[in-house]
Amino acid sequence: MIEVKNVTKVFNQGRPNEMTALRDVSFEVGENELVILKGPSGSGKSTVLSLIAALQKPTSGEVIVEETRVSKLPDDFASLFRREKIGFIFQKFNLIPTLSVFDNIVTPLIPEKLSEKELEAKAERVMEEFSIAHKRDDLAKNLSGGEQQRVAIARALVNDPPIILADEPTANLDAKLAERFLEYVKRIKEEGKTILIATHDPLFFDLPITDREITLHNGRVV
Ligand code: ADP
Ligand code: MG
Repeated sequence: MIEVKNVTKVFNQGRPNEMTALRDVSFEVGENELVILKGPSGSGKSTVLSLIAALQKPTSGEVIVEETRVSKLPDDFASLFRREKIGFIFQKFNLIPTLSVFDNIVTPLIPEKLSEKELEAKAERVMEEFSIAHKRDDLAKNLSGGEQQRVAIARALVNDPPIILADEPTANLDAKLAERFLEYVKRIKEEGKTILIATHDPLFFDLPITDREITLHNGRVV
């Protein structure tokens, strides 16, 4: 499903602040696998996710997602690819505070120009699944942490993408909400999604449902 092949990423190449964030990183994630990407802060986890989501391009090496060579995609194709294939759950959830729950959840669907009815149906499905339907008209800024978490997950899933990427999803959660996130991950895996979670939260280490853990250190897989 995901192939990262000999990827090196250098930021600010040739400048005094040049920074090699990833060095010759290779790994694969199979369909419906749950893979945990571990490593201390600054080890390159977020950079890996952004390369898989085609938000950035590697300096050398390749990233292939479901037969698409995303490391070579022109920008307009990259956003199409993202919309179809990737659900991204950000560390701070990145909800739009002044929009309602419903409007936040349907943002990934906007470019598809669906009818009002289709939008409703898709949003309804994920709002029900993650128990946030009762808050559909509330503004994101007025939600509790747990509610924001559910909206972020619902938004990542509304397009029914095959791949879910999560970047430090429990970094801003208390222990109880972090546990709950884990329950949602189990559910998403049962639905058949391929999941890659970048985290240094030990909650995700050695889980029975995890297929593999990959540890990064200073931009290398160790
Ligand atoms: P992690 O997610 O494991 O904390 P990151 O992938 O965010 O690590 O960062 C890896 C390294 O790359 C860090 O040293 C970081 O400062 C650097 N880095 C990340 N993004 C950029 C960028 N856009 N420009 C310059 N350096 C960056
Ligand atoms: Mg990070």
